[in-house]
Amino acid sequence: MNEFSLIETYFNWGGSNLANLGIGDDCAVIDIDANYQLVTSVDTFIEGVHFPSNTSASDIAYKSLAVNLSDLAAVGARVKYFTLALTLPNINKKWLSQFSTSLKSLADEFGIVLVGGDTTKGMLSITINVTGVVKKNKALLRSSAQVGDLIFVSNTIGDAAYAWKQLQNNQTPSEYVINQFNRPKPQLFLGQQLSDIANACIDISDGLEQDLTHILTRSNVGASINLDDIPLTYEVKTYIEKTNDWCLVLAGGDDYELCFTAPVKNMNLLKALQNKNNITVTQIGIINDSMALTKIGFFDKQCCSYQHF
Ligand SMILES: [Mg+2]
Repeated sequence: MNEFSLIETYFNWGGSNLANLGIGDDCAVIDIDANYQLVTSVDTFIEGVHFPSNTSASDIAYKSLAVNLSDLAAVGARVKYFTLALTLPNINKKWLSQFSTSLKSLADEFGIVLVGGDTTKGMLSITINVTGVVKKNKALLRSSAQVGDLIFVSNTIGDAAYAWKQLQNNQTPSEYVINQFNRPKPQLFLGQQLSDIANACIDISDGLEQDLTHILTRSNVGASINLDDIPLTYEVKTYIEKTNDWCLVLAGGDDYELCFTAPVKNMNLLKALQNKNNITVTQIGIINDSMALTKIGFFDKQCCSYQHF
């Protein structure tokens, strides 16, 4: 099977009214709406670094698109299209078919269209570039937090890191946490709704502490968070109570939940959003002018943030 038939067989999913030209041409040529800005993000996924070698093709496909969608969620974007660069050690038809089916199903769920890509031979690696749109000057940024803003996170923190820790220790994670690790749900709806409520926003990929610190640094502010207020599932809470390993929650990463700041005057809007859509967000702290992050309840002075290098 050559590159062209591979693309034709597994990645030509049919027409799109978004791209004038799509898969099979030299470039994707794309219409965008007036009064909107393009937002774009790229992530690479490497076997053994970002996912264990025994991860299924469908989980790999899901996560590599989901984490990119999460970046679009963080700026409040509507998703439009993506490209895929796939490096494969060999052509395994069963693997490709599962990968393609899972990728298409997630793409369809969020209405994002595959418009191009590249395939090469080498160590398994997946690079996805996603593009979406936001209304002009309405993107949620990291740099807009204001002193007095309340700090929130969506859903629960630490589930994926707990699953990863268990896998590394040859333990069997529960179905719930392994699913949070392999199939994080991009918070696109929440991100879009927050554009009139939040001041600053980020998605938690590298860990709550590091990602919140990005907001603080870019916004020239500080914050105080209370560890007791961080929403945890029962099993992570039990683990923390036993080990006091707060690094798992603060620096474990892979949450793909949103961390955002919002002014007190918008609390009614936020409550209404939660009640109407069954969304869970929890206040974990407040923005202040200290220029530092204070963690109430955290006694270990050592930094536990994830580092890429
Ligand atoms: Mg991000």
